[in-house]
Amino acid sequence: MAGLWGGVGGWYTVVGGRLARFVLFNQLFSAKKKLMSTEVAPEDPTYNDDEYTTAQKEPSAAPDSGKRDLEWPETTVNPTQLRWRYATGIPLIHLLACLAFFPWFFSWTGLVVGALGLYVFGTLGVNLCYHRLLTHQGFKAPKWLEHFFAVLGVCTMQDTPACWVAMHRIHHKHSDYRPDPHSPLVNFVWGHCGWLMFTNRDFRNLNYYQRFTRDLLRDPFYMKLERNERWLWIYTIHMLLFFLVGFAIGGLQFGLSLVVWGVFVRTVITWHITWSVNSFTHVWGYRNYETDDNSRNNFLVGLWANGEGWHNNHHADQRAAAHGHKWWEFDVTWLTIRLLEKLGLVENVVRPKVWAGGAGEK
Ligand SMILES: [Zn+2]
Ligand SMILES: [Zn+2]
Repeated sequence: MAGLWGGVGGWYTVVGGRLARFVLFNQLFSAKKKLMSTEVAPEDPTYNDDEYTTAQKEPSAAPDSGKRDLEWPETTVNPTQLRWRYATGIPLIHLLACLAFFPWFFSWTGLVVGALGLYVFGTLGVNLCYHRLLTHQGFKAPKWLEHFFAVLGVCTMQDTPACWVAMHRIHHKHSDYRPDPHSPLVNFVWGHCGWLMFTNRDFRNLNYYQRFTRDLLRDPFYMKLERNERWLWIYTIHMLLFFLVGFAIGGLQFGLSLVVWGVFVRTVITWHITWSVNSFTHVWGYRNYETDDNSRNNFLVGLWANGEGWHNNHHADQRAAAHGHKWWEFDVTWLTIRLLEKLGLVENVVRPKVWAGGAGEK
């Protein structure tokens, strides 16, 4: 708890007058640089392309339980520089979601659209595509389907596919050690969303994080999403579509109810679901595998994150497209991948190693 308040206190200390002006200048400067630096840098012969992609190896059984106290990753994070886009954007979308407390913005259709959106955008876009497909290559999908799912992921406002994948690959490579961008062993708030608010050199712009995602960025589709803030435009356009369809059907109030519930409330809930995988499941839960980190299987996160909460299983066998390894570890994302496989839409689906031993496939 002390660590939590320490983290919160740390936020306030960095928001100073002159400091803020200096930070703003830096952010504007780096944003301009980002627009100018969207080409893949020349191949670095010292860089190993496989270093951050997911290896197919046996579940790790390192003796270290992973429990340790951490300081934030000072090698990459600059605690005097806020990432203004996130530090202002995240509270802003939360505020807009609070419009849901006004009955005028409510409609049952909006509520249902928001609930379905948790699956369509969160489970298909983030769990299935950003995480299990793009980051860990747990199965293969035709490009048209992969790109469609990636656009759904963009509509959760969790940055571009390449940026998300880079963050997550670094997390796996250094889980709960200091270069891990979001270990909750620093403190819970840091692991949940605090880490997003500060400048991290690894994610400053494409030039920094492309070295973790060259396999992805060879596809021009993902490189285009990096250019000219296209991913933010896609988010904005999908929001406008929600409004226009609602407006055409039922007028202003109905259109706004679809935006408030179907976009803002859904975005905020999807954020906290994704963030809870980073925070809860590296603190609370049980372990099937003695991995070299503090990852846990958390029953609640397993349910509300549609399978992503079986996180210790995932850290032990990262490439596997199924995160629930036991029959009762319910994994909606895996069931979706199974359905797509049965329909012939995806192939080369990687099963958990433990299932090969007769543990039984679900
Ligand atoms: Zn992962
Ligand atoms: Zn993890």
